[in-house]
Amino acid sequence: MTPELRDLYQEVILDHNRRPRHFHVLQDASHRADGYNPLCGDRLTVYVQVEDGRVREASFQGSGCAISKASASMMTDAVSGKSLAGARSLFEAFHRMVTSASDAPADPAELGKLAVFAGVREFPARVKCASLAWHTLLAALRADSGTVSTEGADEPAVARGAGGHR
Ligand code: ZN
Repeated sequence: MTPELRDLYQEVILDHNRRPRHFHVLQDASHRADGYNPLCGDRLTVYVQVEDGRVREASFQGSGCAISKASASMMTDAVSGKSLAGARSLFEAFHRMVTSASDAPADPAELGKLAVFAGVREFPARVKCASLAWHTLLAALRADSGTVSTEGADEPAVARGAGGHR
């Protein structure tokens, strides 16, 4: 990671942790899911209002470390207004980035501001903090019920049915 990206990473995470965006219960949510990362203790509930195949609004509530909160804050920002397919492909791009080798280039064109989370690759224990909100979003969109846990799997919300994972 370049020094510039490292500075930006810290700045963005501190800012979103201090003033999380979309940090509230969405009363008219059509989908919701709870996410839990036992390795760190992060707990999130993600709310989504889907209308005509688009994410009209996304929000979250919960408590956790600065990275999990900043990631949820930026995620809800990034997917609001997107089509469901667009939100899923953003999930995939994000997931690809945080699980790639730490010296692989991030893809800012596709991810925009979310590319700062390439910084977590240098701290493997933090990857689950950064991806918790995304897994929870996916679970919400699939209308899964119950709690998504990051325990014991790299991709708890998406691995099911894909086959071959562990
Ligand atoms: Zn965490």
